[in-house]
Amino acid sequence: MSSLDREPLPAVFVGHGSPMNTLDDNRYTRSWCDFAATFRRPRAVVAVSAHWYIGATAITAMDRPKTIHDFYGFPPELFAVDYPAPDSAAVAGEVIDALAGFWVGRDVDSWGIDHGTWSVLVHMYPEADVPVLQLSIDATKDSEYHVNLGRALESLRHREILVVGSGNIVHNLGLIDWENHEGGYDWAREFNQAAHDVLTTDPGAVTRLVEHPEYRRAVPTPEHLLPGFYVAGMAAAAGRPLERIVDGYAFGSLSMDTYVLR
Ligand code: ZN
Repeated sequence: MSSLDREPLPAVFVGHGSPMNTLDDNRYTRSWCDFAATFRRPRAVVAVSAHWYIGATAITAMDRPKTIHDFYGFPPELFAVDYPAPDSAAVAGEVIDALAGFWVGRDVDSWGIDHGTWSVLVHMYPEADVPVLQLSIDATKDSEYHVNLGRALESLRHREILVVGSGNIVHNLGLIDWENHEGGYDWAREFNQAAHDVLTTDPGAVTRLVEHPEYRRAVPTPEHLLPGFYVAGMAAAAGRPLERIVDGYAFGSLSMDTYVLR
């Protein structure tokens, strides 16, 4: 049976939250693990992480990509995490082909696998036995660009490649309230609900969130929201809405919602 005869793989936008979710076992991390058990093993993962936000679109093309600990102020156990995913350079050309029409750099030595990606993959694929590539987010581009790039990524679902967007729909570190473990501010809830409304009905229209009155407060910088734009673009290309598989808030100003394209 060729891959064309099979249902395409899903895609997912994960609300990753604190890096401590790497080590925790909670309802969010369980939802990521449970999700990965609902479909066959992909040939590779292409991750669009909030934490690779640079001046260009680039794909990692490297063997044994390094585990990057791109945070500070966390316990040593977190710095000790290693995610030794297999060689993935061979898959980079397929991603570049899928993105024909976009300029895509090939990164052979600068990046690797950052915590936006491995904090989630340690739960989805704890054995680190699936090749992992990262696709950067171009900070210089407008929101339509990211959705259009997502539309082009949809073809990877048909090539047994899993696209994982990793960020947070609401992400304002400046307003974090560490005492408010499961709470969300009213403005955070309002923006999160608007995102839910568009992603589950008309994902191709996700850029309208940029006009939302709480946009600036929800994501003072957009890098955590933008991975959702890629997965929304994929959903638009597939002609299907996204489905929210877990929802909640952390520390007032983070939304932990995760959405899948089936
Ligand atoms: Zn993050």
